[in-house]
Amino acid sequence: MSAIYNFCAGPAMLPKPVMLKAQSELLDWNGQGVSVMELSHRDKAYIALAEKAEQDLRDLMAIPDDYHVLFMHGGGRAQFAAVVNNFLGDAGQALYLVDGSWSSIAADEAEKLVGKTHIDRLNIVNKNDDMSQVELPHLHAIKKDYRYVHYCPNETVDGIEIFDELDSPWPVVADMSSTIMSREIDVSRYGLIYAGAQKNIGPSGLCVVIVHQDLLTLPSLPQSSIMDYRLAVKHGSMYNTPPTFAWYLAAKVFEWLKEQGGVKSIAAINQQKAALLYHCIDSSDFYQSKVNVDNRSNMNVTFYLADSELEMLFLEQAKQAGLLALKGHRMVGGMRASIYNAMPLEGVQVLVDFMNAFATEHG
Ligand SMILES: *Cc1c(COP(=O)(O)O)cnc(C)c1O
Repeated sequence: MSAIYNFCAGPAMLPKPVMLKAQSELLDWNGQGVSVMELSHRDKAYIALAEKAEQDLRDLMAIPDDYHVLFMHGGGRAQFAAVVNNFLGDAGQALYLVDGSWSSIAADEAEKLVGKTHIDRLNIVNKNDDMSQVELPHLHAIKKDYRYVHYCPNETVDGIEIFDELDSPWPVVADMSSTIMSREIDVSRYGLIYAGAQKNIGPSGLCVVIVHQDLLTLPSLPQSSIMDYRLAVKHGSMYNTPPTFAWYLAAKVFEWLKEQGGVKSIAAINQQKAALLYHCIDSSDFYQSKVNVDNRSNMNVTFYLADSELEMLFLEQAKQAGLLALKGHRMVGGMRASIYNAMPLEGVQVLVDFMNAFATEHG
């Protein structure tokens, strides 16, 4: 059987060496005689694993000491609510920049929890001639006392990425679910970063939160304990039973990433992968990108077939060639190839070869 390459946007493929390692220790982890799934999260060995995972993440992202790292439940969407709950007590207000589907849903959730009068929404994507282009606003010109500004640097559904860091007078809260550790960032420019695990970290159910200690002094809404960042900090992310297996796999992914040379090295490969694929799209009239060159995502490459009638056939033949999950999100249609850290360069090369052959045959 020829190789399978899985381009699913999430849950996404995991690095093969990680999966093989997990398989080999599935029934007996760390000489415990039981699976890591069957072990108490209070067990010394598990605590050591959790602490090492945090340290590896701190190393990989160069997270300064005045930030807490949390391993939370509930994926990205839980943080849509948690951010509001934790920081918008006492009639606090926040600004939500909307650059695509996820940031829009995050703003909806915030409005639901505190009402429209407390949330300002600013659309930062222009669509000229069907091409999406981000225009970052001059935030310092906005004379408002926001607790934070929220945005999504990589819009997974739309394939839009913002590479520039925001210049903001308020703490920046960033949903990095689909871009975390794909390229180097300066963590000190953010108030809070969160990322659902199932794109670039591990399996679903887990969400990494990196939060500056000062944000935790903001007034919170009355809220459920399980969403409370302060409680999570106090209990080392073990206020209740954490998703232990997801955390374990995330720890393995961090180790793997370190072995690859860290974020800087993987970013160079990610750049190469994205360039290869966008070049294929741009060099034929058969395929089309609807995102301005400066904002094209390195992680989620969205594209369309000029003749949309051929989409089904494209997906069918791609699948036969071992290229899975290329269908675009139902909200936007078209195609999407998610090429997170775990996708090797060969996978993208095989996809490009397939796309060129398909275009020659049907163009
Ligand atoms: C996948 C994704 C989410 C949602 O994550 P869940 O774990 O399903 O809640 C939120 N934001 C972004 C940018 C995503 O890619």
